[in-house]
Amino acid sequence: EAKSRGRNRAITYDDRMSELLRLQHTIEGELREALSTSTQISVAFQPLVDQRSRRVIGAEALARWHHPTFGQISPARFIPIAENTGLIGALGELVLRRACEMGAGQPGRTIAVNISPTQLRNPRFAGQVFDILRETGMRATDLELEITESILLDDEQVSSQNLRTFRSAGIQIALDDFGTGYSSMSYLSRYPVDRIKIDRSFVSQLNEAHVSVAITDAIVTLAHALNIEVTAEGVETDEQADILARLGCNTLQGFLFSGPVSPERVVEIFSEPRNAPLRRSRAA
Ligand code: C2E
Ligand code: MG
Ligand code: MG
Ligand code: MG
Repeated sequence: EAKSRGRNRAITYDDRMSELLRLQHTIEGELREALSTSTQISVAFQPLVDQRSRRVIGAEALARWHHPTFGQISPARFIPIAENTGLIGALGELVLRRACEMGAGQPGRTIAVNISPTQLRNPRFAGQVFDILRETGMRATDLELEITESILLDDEQVSSQNLRTFRSAGIQIALDDFGTGYSSMSYLSRYPVDRIKIDRSFVSQLNEAHVSVAITDAIVTLAHALNIEVTAEGVETDEQADILARLGCNTLQGFLFSGPVSPERVVEIFSEPRNAPLRRSRAA
């Protein structure tokens, strides 16, 4: 009895493992197919709001995958699979192209695009980016590439060469999800960036009574001393926005202002009159 229970447990574990691998494999195959037709993949845009004026100054491009039978699949699920299977190159290029196609018609708006470490390690990546800018007519100075801090830990010469190439062309570099990993201000002097984005997990803890206010204050002060702008992501409440304003955070992003929306909708939001309050929406 005990023996068979033990065996059952072992079988259950193995089953789960192989189930997980099967699922990964299925998603990989489906993603490969989705990328070859590119009709299931779309790009949503989440407005970026200037803290002082509360005007929309740009938007972050976020990949969306609508599968015909599985429905909406979260990037948290498919981006890691794309990274592990070499599909991130094609996916990243698709997102960058769609983002630049939209951004080309919106000069002066910052269009931010997430870049995976694998893309940045590719010696041909900078060339791809410049091709897309030329083909779409997007201005380099309107493009911001969001990298994650794992890139900063990376000794890769190629990554830092690519970053230098981008910066000298006027493309902005933002360090995403700041505060989640091995964040250290000392990396910022090694690979200079234009902006840090304080992660949502941090912002969501912000309330007047919490130690996170003091930590965020220190982060903003240090960043500004290094000439780095600060965006707070995942801003959901007025209290969080007020605290971030008091701390001098430059840019705000979050459901308080708008969730990610379609390219058509973000263009509408861009053209709305000055200081018009954003309709709250979590669509796309
Ligand atoms: P991220 O770059 O940090 O993007 C912000 C994520 O937070 C988005 O989730 C956005 O929808 C969500 N978010 C924004 N404001 C709020 C808020 O107020 N509350 C809450 N609860 N969430 C908010 P999403 O679109 O699911 O993307 C998740 C992550 O997947 C992104 O995090 C990014 O790391 C990755 N990702 C998305 N698209 C791409 C892409 O095209 N390329 C790469 N390499 N990664 C991508
Ligand atoms: Mg991002
Ligand atoms: Mg982020
Ligand atoms: Mg984040």
